[in-house]
Amino acid sequence: MLISKSFDSGSIEIIDAKDPRDIRLAILRDHESDFYQWFHFRASGVMDEPCKFTIERANETAFPAGWDSYNVCASYDRDHWFRVPSAYDGESLSWDITSIYFAYFVPYSMERHLDLIADCSLSPLVRSQVLGHTLDGQALDMLEVGHGAEGRKAVWLIARQHPGETMSEWFMEGALERLLDEDDPVARKLLEKAHFYIVPNMNPDGSRRGQLRSNACGASLNREWLDPSMERSPEVFLTREKMEETGVDFFVDVHGDEALPYCFVAGFDGVPNLRENRIEQFRQYRRTLSELCPDFQEVHGYDADAPGTANMAMGMNFVADHFDAVAMILEMPFQDNHDLPDSEPGGWSTERSRHLARGCLDALLQIIDEI
Ligand code: ZN
Repeated sequence: MLISKSFDSGSIEIIDAKDPRDIRLAILRDHESDFYQWFHFRASGVMDEPCKFTIERANETAFPAGWDSYNVCASYDRDHWFRVPSAYDGESLSWDITSIYFAYFVPYSMERHLDLIADCSLSPLVRSQVLGHTLDGQALDMLEVGHGAEGRKAVWLIARQHPGETMSEWFMEGALERLLDEDDPVARKLLEKAHFYIVPNMNPDGSRRGQLRSNACGASLNREWLDPSMERSPEVFLTREKMEETGVDFFVDVHGDEALPYCFVAGFDGVPNLRENRIEQFRQYRRTLSELCPDFQEVHGYDADAPGTANMAMGMNFVADHFDAVAMILEMPFQDNHDLPDSEPGGWSTERSRHLARGCLDALLQIIDEI
């Protein structure tokens, strides 16, 4: 059995792969960081022989609760991905199948990212901009969508601050598909009222390196918003710089949650000088989204921060406070939405991520006049 990880977003440690019926693996730490949970590898060299894969020390990863009802993502052709029943015994995660590619969630490669940027750039509604370069020298892409910023609300959507949370870029595909569909009535009405600034991948270096949470130097970008620098967190520095130019009225930072099996948002309840009208608009948005989109709910999620205790180095808190914006983090599951589960072996999917994005735009149209 040959295991390889030397490709875009590949990551795994091989402990022992000599016996196909007992392949022992482990998850690698992000570079210069203690976080790890993402894996993506190719298995080859075995024909029609039953294989058993075991990831050891899964209980030591960043979010061990995330393995409880988790099923691994697998693919033969790298295009169609499916879930394989997996067992977690409190220490190791294992599954049996002869397959070729496995990953924590369906990967979103930098090649696909470049295709997305190129495809969108063909639309007359889009202005594509490179905000600058990352530590590994990759472009930080932003897509401006709309008929012009003048007189319209500034809506910012960003994804993949945590690069292993690939569902967030699949979400962006859904959002962009809808916004660029000139026959879609929701998109047409929204673009009358709002101008969009979209960063589909905030962390190209972590993405290509196959990391869960960090950039090329080990920085967790969602802890860098208060004082970013070109040396440590150029991705946030450049995005913030652009935001100063455009202003921000509405901000969604899209993520995946390793442990909680639901879709939810968290707000900026803990920022100092909380503006009551802004937090009420956030709650109104959350309520509207839960009414319009059955995959979204407001019961399960993170506890709201107590007044004045927000971590201001996080994107949503910084943006809410600094720009007087309605700001939030949106989370999708790695496991499944337990309120609306898939048939077994179930799991959240790329298409459901895209649908959630469409629902988010429906909800935004309902409240855009209020913000
Ligand atoms: Zn995250």
